[in-house]
Amino acid sequence: MNQVKEPSAIITQKGRQRVRAAHQWVYRSDIKEVRNAGGGQLLRVFDSKGRLLGKALYSDRSLIALRFITFEDEEIDREFWRKRLRAAAQFRRQIVSDTESYRLVHAEGDFLSSLIIDVYNDVFVLQTLSQGMETLKQMWVELLIEEFSPRSIVERNDVKVRELEGLPLTTGVLHGLEPGEIIVTENGIKFYMNPLQGQKTGAFLDQRENRRAASFYGRGRALDCFSFHGAFGLNLAGRAESVTCIDSSSAAIAQARRNAELNNISNIEFIEANVFNQLKAYDERGERFDTIVLDPPAFAKNRQSLEGALRGYKEINLRAMKILNPGGVLITCTCSQHVTEELFLGVLAEAAADAHRTAQIVEKRMQSRDHPVLLSVPETYYLKCMILRIA
Ligand code: SAH
Repeated sequence: MNQVKEPSAIITQKGRQRVRAAHQWVYRSDIKEVRNAGGGQLLRVFDSKGRLLGKALYSDRSLIALRFITFEDEEIDREFWRKRLRAAAQFRRQIVSDTESYRLVHAEGDFLSSLIIDVYNDVFVLQTLSQGMETLKQMWVELLIEEFSPRSIVERNDVKVRELEGLPLTTGVLHGLEPGEIIVTENGIKFYMNPLQGQKTGAFLDQRENRRAASFYGRGRALDCFSFHGAFGLNLAGRAESVTCIDSSSAAIAQARRNAELNNISNIEFIEANVFNQLKAYDERGERFDTIVLDPPAFAKNRQSLEGALRGYKEINLRAMKILNPGGVLITCTCSQHVTEELFLGVLAEAAADAHRTAQIVEKRMQSRDHPVLLSVPETYYLKCMILRIA
């Protein structure tokens, strides 16, 4: 047997339990031994009794030492990865519509831990967020070319988590020409997009379905708080009388304005301000609204900052509830993974009580379906979006 020489790892009983529950991560503290493997390699994983648990990508730096790719003893070659990619694409064909931009591969959610692939029309954007996926980068580029013939493939590997893997932060073109600025249509609205710039891979695709849901509640005077490139606001503008977008970034506001012009939408205005101050000012001036979107950045980046984050969420929600007219609708989000649905609903209930408002939960939503949530990996459920109606 070549078992002695092949890359392998033995994990603790605790690690085994996680794997048995189909979680894809094993932490360094649950590793007993790693044999014949360097960072980035694929290895076989055993429990302490020598039973095979599956195959995982190994990182010699990150706290997440093993990322399981399969819980079977199967061959992992190019065709294996191609099948996974095709399965992800097949699911997108079922659920993604009315858009030229979507997430093709959502890491753990598509059983491809630490791999993200976003599609913007004919430009594909890749993120390889672990040593293992980084090692496979060239293969992913080749598979994408073979399967989809994209015009360009770029990498947006300028993500902080790569530092935890000892990987450099970098961006660049992997195939084709530099895409430059492109235009993508979502829910019938056009957006300027630059895959090599802007936040994340260029846009917040995880909110696409929530933006569409929000569009149906647009009414009277609407407010899009933390508007970035104006995506919620432009969706509301179809039904609302007027929309005000607020963002603290002048660059984001400028881009939102360009997007409004691109779509000839004119019942929309833009304010460069801190949402906390602006909502307070509206309240003090007695201004009222009929539809409000709150889509702040993740206030809780980790568990330590959770308490402060909850205070932040409570404050903006309380202010928003106060300035909504009776019958008004609040579309309120958190993308902090540590703010669970239960915690978030608790904060909203407190905000409503302090604002002397009663609210109905009209819809409970999460990240768009092209960002699948895995039952066995709770960390994949990060975005919560509640649609409330003020009674
Ligand atoms: N709703 C957007 C995404 C919002 S991203 C979409 O659907 O595409 C969060 C935005 O909040 C960023 O544009 C950031 O500039 C802005 N931001 C962060 N803190 C802020 C604050 N205190 N006041 C106003 N805007 C803020």
